[in-house]
This record gives sequence, C-alpha cells and structure tokens, in this order.
Amino acid sequence: MAFSEKGAIFPEISYGFYKVFAELHCINYEEIPLSEDFTINTNDYLSKGKMIAIANPNAPTGIALSLSDIEKIVKSNEGNLVLIDEAYVDFGGESAIGLTKKYNNLLVVHTFSKSRSLAGARLGFAIANEEIIKDLEKIKYSTNPYSINRLSLLAGEAAIKSDPYYKENAKKIIEARQYTVSELKKLGFEVLPSCANFIFAKKDGLDGEEIYLKLKQNGILVRHFTKERIKDFNRITIGTMEQMQKFISVISSII
Ligand SMILES: *Cc1c(COP(=O)(O)O)cnc(C)c1O
Repeated sequence: MAFSEKGAIFPEISYGFYKVFAELHCINYEEIPLSEDFTINTNDYLSKGKMIAIANPNAPTGIALSLSDIEKIVKSNEGNLVLIDEAYVDFGGESAIGLTKKYNNLLVVHTFSKSRSLAGARLGFAIANEEIIKDLEKIKYSTNPYSINRLSLLAGEAAIKSDPYYKENAKKIIEARQYTVSELKKLGFEVLPSCANFIFAKKDGLDGEEIYLKLKQNGILVRHFTKERIKDFNRITIGTMEQMQKFISVISSII
C-alpha cells in the first residue's frame, strides 16, 4: 500500500501472500522465475524501477541469499523500496537489519509467528530508515491505528526479553533439520539446502501428492503445492527430534 505505486516484483515461487496482497491492492506485479536450482538469481532484481519483495530465506524452498547479494539488489534499486522478509532468518540466515543504516530504501520485516512461537499473537515489526517508517505510519493511521492489541504487545515484549530461550529453540530445530536432511538423503531424496525451520524435498520416481497423502494417513502433515514446477516436492516442517525420527521411520516404510 505504501510503496508499490510503480508496481512490484517478487519471485514466482515464494510466500504466497505477496501475490494475494498485490491483487487485493490492484498492484501491477511481476513474478520472476527462480533459477534451475531454485535459487533467486540476483541479476534478475537489479535496477527494476519498482518495489521488490524477497523472503530471505525464501519459502517454501528454504534457500537463503547472502547479505552481499541483498546489498547488490538494494544498491541498484535506489529510489525504490526493497522489502526483505526475514520470517525465517533465525534458523540460519543472515539478517539485513544492519544494512538499513546504510540504505534508505531497505525495509526489513520480522514476525513473531515462527522462531518466537507466537503465531496466534499476529505480531511483527519493520525496521528501516526513519522516513520509510513514517510512510508506513501514515498508512497505519489511515487504516487502523489500533492494529495491535495490548495482550499481543505484552507477549511480544516478553518474547524479546526471552531471546536466549528462543535462540536455544532455534538451535535445536537446526540440529533436528540436519538429522532429517541426512536421513532423507540416505533414502535417496533430493533436499534443497535449507536455512529455515522446514525443508523442501522430493524423490525421483515418487509422486509428491501421493507422499503427502500417505503421510497424512499416518498422522503426519506436510505441505504439498500443486504448482507444476514443485508438485513433486513436499515442505516438511521441522519439529522435535522425536517427531523427526517418527517422520523418518514412517517415510521409510512409505517408500
Ligand atoms: C509466516 C510468514 C510471514 C508472516 O506471518 P504472520 O503470521 O502474518 O506474521 C511473512 N512472511 C513469510 C515468508 C512467512 O512465512
């Protein structure tokens, strides 16, 4: 609403809501295909003349861009906003928050829904240069100035103060992710290199939807997407070590 009057671009495979929001607000948007290996090709995002939105790490691939790639994109798009969505950054990505001091067209957003375990609180924050935040506040005060309820604010404050606890959680998830990736690879799965709290995996010769349905019959829910290019993949959220051991034993029996 605040920054995309000249249009917006984002990766073709990414957080599904970018497209939903663009359509809701009648924004002229363009989706850029990912490279062959499902990475974001930095060169596709240089000097675009419109707003750019990138989830880093990306979803549902889990693949992260380096900080130097982000900086290249931000630098070449002076005068247009670059939104870096760091919903999953605490699981192994590099935060671009530091770059907001150097560039006035960079907006970094975080949510409390993932690494801070507060999905029901509907809470997040945005970090950018003061002028950018003022623009956002103009939008906020023109829609619903009381957008965040007091209970969520208190929960968010407590979560910030409990940072060591959440860091420890993220560490456990990263360990369970490493275990899951290595077990799936032993079973012949292709797993994209994830910096998030989920992995994206497929096995040649196996139908993605069928794996999803068989896991579901066994009480395990993963996310299957019908988009042609990723229809044989499933996004598997990383849970506790016990849950992932159960998952590996179920998926072994399925294949
Ligand atoms: C979860 C998520 C968000 C925001 O989630 P909220 O629950 O609405 O705060 C934003 N971007 C990505 C990529 C996400 O996965």
